[in-house]
Amino acid sequence: MANQGECPKCGKRVLHVNVETVISMVDTESKGRCMSYSCIHCNAVLGIQVDRRIKPRSRVRPTPKG
Ligand SMILES: [Zn+2]
Repeated sequence: MANQGECPKCGKRVLHVNVETVISMVDTESKGRCMSYSCIHCNAVLGIQVDRRIKPRSRVRPTPKG
């Protein structure tokens, strides 16, 4: 079978997607970067993926014992 995904909103074949960098938010606090994939025809978001290339900033450093 050929891979012919269709956009659930506009029904067109998804051959290209817009990729945007978005920030994941938890209670209005940014937790890290994500990648957003959206349809180039209607801009419906098809999926969000965590961008693992960039490490999220951590305020709490592990304290060495001893
Ligand atoms: Zn679409």
